[in-house]
Order: sequence, then C-alpha cells, then structure tokens
Amino acid sequence: MTKYIFVTGGVVSSLGKGLAASSIGCLLETRGLKVQMMKLDPYINVDPGTMSPFQHGEVFVTDDGAETDLDLGHYERFTNAKLTKANNWTSGRIYLSVIEKERRGDYLGKTIQVIPHITDEIKMAVRVVAEKEQPNVLIVEIGGTVGDIESLPFMEAIRQIGNEEGRGNAIYVHVTLVPYIAAAGELKTKPTQHSVKELREIGIAPDILLCRSDRPLSLDLRRKIALFCNVQENAVISALDVKTIYEVPLAFHEQELDELIVESLNLKEEFPHADLKNWRELVATIKEPSTGEVKIAIVGKYVELEDSYKSLREALTHAGVANNLKVNVNWIESESLIDDENYQTRLQDYDAILVPGGFGKRGISGMIRAIKYARKSGTPYFGICLGMQTACVEFARNLCGLRDADSTEFNAETPFPIIFKLRDLVGVDELGGTMRLGAWQCELKEGSLVRDIYKNSPEISERHRHRYEFNPEFRQVLEKEGLVFSGVSPDGKFVEIIELPRDAHPFFVGCQFHPEYKSKPLNAHPLFVSFVKAAWENRVNSENLKDDVTSDKQIEMPERAAVAGEE
Ligand code: GLN
Repeated sequence: MTKYIFVTGGVVSSLGKGLAASSIGCLLETRGLKVQMMKLDPYINVDPGTMSPFQHGEVFVTDDGAETDLDLGHYERFTNAKLTKANNWTSGRIYLSVIEKERRGDYLGKTIQVIPHITDEIKMAVRVVAEKEQPNVLIVEIGGTVGDIESLPFMEAIRQIGNEEGRGNAIYVHVTLVPYIAAAGELKTKPTQHSVKELREIGIAPDILLCRSDRPLSLDLRRKIALFCNVQENAVISALDVKTIYEVPLAFHEQELDELIVESLNLKEEFPHADLKNWRELVATIKEPSTGEVKIAIVGKYVELEDSYKSLREALTHAGVANNLKVNVNWIESESLIDDENYQTRLQDYDAILVPGGFGKRGISGMIRAIKYARKSGTPYFGICLGMQTACVEFARNLCGLRDADSTEFNAETPFPIIFKLRDLVGVDELGGTMRLGAWQCELKEGSLVRDIYKNSPEISERHRHRYEFNPEFRQVLEKEGLVFSGVSPDGKFVEIIELPRDAHPFFVGCQFHPEYKSKPLNAHPLFVSFVKAAWENRVNSENLKDDVTSDKQIEMPERAAVAGEE
C-alpha cells in the first residue's frame, strides 16, 4: 500500500521545494523504501515545452518524451524513481483532459465544475502513479505558493486524498521562510505563521515544517513556531543554506527528518535504518576534491539564468566527482563574443569549451567563433544538441569551403543547409510537443572515441529534444574533410554524434541528444566524465608547456594541427 507525502510551499517562491522533496525521497531510499515522485504545477500551459527558459528555467525531458518541470530533474538525480509524463501535471493539462472528456460526452450532460470534476481529475492523476508504480511512498510536490488562486484545486485535491487515506497514511510537509530582519537583529516567524494559517484555512494542517533561513533556528524559535503552527517541536526542521545541494539530505538526516517521516507513516518497523555512506562520500568529494580543479566555459544564449541549464550544471559537477576534480564553470553569453576582437584571449583562460542546447538565431556567430577556436587550438570541445549542429556548420564553412553553410533555423535561404528541419516535421507548424522528444537508440561506430567512452557498447539510448537535424546530403563532403559520424540512429536516418579523429584533436565531440538529463551524482554520465578528464589533461599539458620554457614546441602540440585544407 502506498503512503503519501505532500509538499507545499509558503511565503515566497524559490524556496527550493523541489530540492526539499527530492532530498526527502533520497533519505527514504537510503532506508530501503521504494519512492516515487510527482509534481503538480498550477500554471495554465499544458507543459513547459513552449515556455521561454527565462520564464521557466530548463525543460527536463523524460525517457517517454514528456517535456517537464526542472524539478523532475532533481527527482531523478536524487532518487531512483523513473519518471514519465504521468509524473508532471499542470492545470492546463488537467483542464485539457477534462474538457476533452466533456466534448466526448463522457460526463453525460452534467455541469462540469472545479469540484468535483477538476479535483477528481487531479486525484486520479496522483492515484494512477501510485497504482502503476506501487511505491512505498509517493511524494507529491505542489508548485507555486499557498494562497495563489490557481493552486486551489490542487490543494483541495490533496486535502481530499489525505482525508481518504486517513491518519498515518498521508502527511503534509510545508516549506516556508524564516527571514532575518537586520534592523531587529532577529529571525522572524510571523510569515511562517501566516502561511500555515492560510493552509489551515483550506483544510490542510501541516505535519512538518521545513523552515528556510540563512542562520540556525534557536530552540526557543522552534518552540515558538511549533506552538503557533500547531506542529510537534521535532517537526520544525531548519533548512539552512548549504554549500552544495547534495548536502540537503544530510542536513535533514541530522535533524532526524527521515525518522520522523517513517514514524508518522508507520513505516519505521519495516525500514528502521538509513545508510548514507555513499551520499556522505559524494558530498565530501564535491566539497574537497583531491585532484584539483578545471575551468570550463559554457558558451550559450540563456546563460544569464543558470536555471536554464540546470541538468547541464549538475552533470558537470557529477563528472567532477568521478574525476575527483572541482569543475568551475563560467557562463559566456555567446553574443558577447561576436564583436569582441579579444575573444581568443578570453577563451584561452579555459581548459575546455562547451556549447549547450538552445533555440533561435541570436548569438550563433559567437558560438561558431568559440567552436573554431576550440577546434584549432586543441581545446576540448563538447557540443550538445545546438552545440553539435553549430559544430557541423563551423566545419562545413571553414574546412569544406561551404562559405554560407548554415542551419535553416537561422538562415532559411542558405545555399548549404547543413542542418535542416526534421523531415518528419515538414508541414507541422504547431509548437507544443512537436519536436523529436525522449529516448531514442543510437549505434556507435567501432573504433571511435565515443564508442570507447561508452565502454564499447554498440548501441546506446539517450534523450532528445530537437526540431532540426543534420542533413544527410552533406555527410560525404564533411566526412571527406575528416569529420567522423560516430553515432547514427539504427535506421540510419539521424546523425546523433560527430567527432574529430583522435589524432587531430584530443576531445571534440558533438551529440544531437542531451546526455545531461541522465547524469546522476553517484553515476556520472560517461560523456561528461571524459570531457572533464580531457579538460584536466589539457590543463596539465598547458601548465607543463608553460613551465618548460626551454622547449620550442610550445604552441603547436601535434594534436593541435588541424585537419588539412583549412581556410
Ligand atoms: N534549435 C535546435 C533544434 O531545434 C537545437 C535544439 C536544442 O539544442 N535542444 O534542433
């Protein structure tokens, strides 16, 4: 039988509810429970697929091709839960489903109302996950903040589920803020009191409060919160800011949060102990890696908002752990490289360069400059999705003599459409859910760098999210100049990975898929692990070259000689 933990948020947004929910999931798994996670988002968009990264942050993609909230990325990184489109619902998708049923006549002429029709639809979405996956615990996070008009149907639905399940089978965790007011020199509990009051007005009495604050809560303060908010004293948990997000489960465990949860859900007898050994080692390595550090430039378009590349940032951290390295990331707005005469000097500072996924024309020439620099200087390069497409364009322009080669996404009139719209999407103008999405197989070429990286697997599966693809008409021309097509879909239709031969460049790889979605802290993605390793080797080599002042082979390392026939 599945038990439920509902996670809500109060006072302000961005309190890290998703991380709190994920950390609870992680802790319960260390006790041996089977955990499932889901997110209910109150906004009206059917999914975040069409939203700007500036508005919404990253769109996380699941194996089954759902475009979901970035919190699902945290869920997959912190737990072993396999997520699908069933694990993320928005108000828009709930309403769409109800309206479709109404149009079909499924409601037999009844008046369709928020209660019970919308709330029933929400409850069904939650119960479907519980029934299908049969976890010991299903953690359900409600997006937004208590008091928002749009979240009311979700609140009502989770109130009803709690009531139906009965005591000991469902609990409510409320994440709130205890701000420090400098003028008073005090942490203030009033916003938390108000937020809990608001929850109770809609019939939900929280069992546990996770109080975000920038300094520890004193015992007195915890007592006060417990008294005014009607929870047990040990259920007032202090959620302090921590150095790395992976420390959150440890901080909760120290305050015996997992103990409290299994007790409240009558699961303690079955799952008495937590084993956090691996997790502790992970956090220790992130905080103090023993080998050293590398500096990586991410040249992209939405770099002002780090949330747009959440999984990417985490994948690099995981790869750092695997190499015992700290990965310092600098985000470079690609547009800023366009008119900068000193762009090469700027890029010289980095041990490796990465161009991530993205959409639209802005900043493309900056990315192409960075790629050309990486290719010619032997700086490790990793291109993801758009970063693979732009690498192909750069190669075509500068090594194959195809001067105005481009992607039709940026120049519909190009004489050399190296990248063009997915053949399956020609004539499809709708934007929502019309990309090549989710997990697809890819065959790896024998003897290639990536085949080695994936431990000689002949076939892999990775997640996609793109509307454009490599145009196979140009494959031969690029191959002739030395580009290796090392990953192709089993039907031969899609180019999935390109690379430069190992004797021409130490690490130059572009992939059409997004490997970052599948990287985990304790199981870093092999492509990222190899990329970070190459960055470290580049750093060590450059330092050796700097030290070796007597050497005259300073600038042109053998592998730096670019492929012949360059512009
Ligand atoms: N804009 C490109 C496409 O749609 C790349 C997408 C991406 O980087 N996710 O194919």
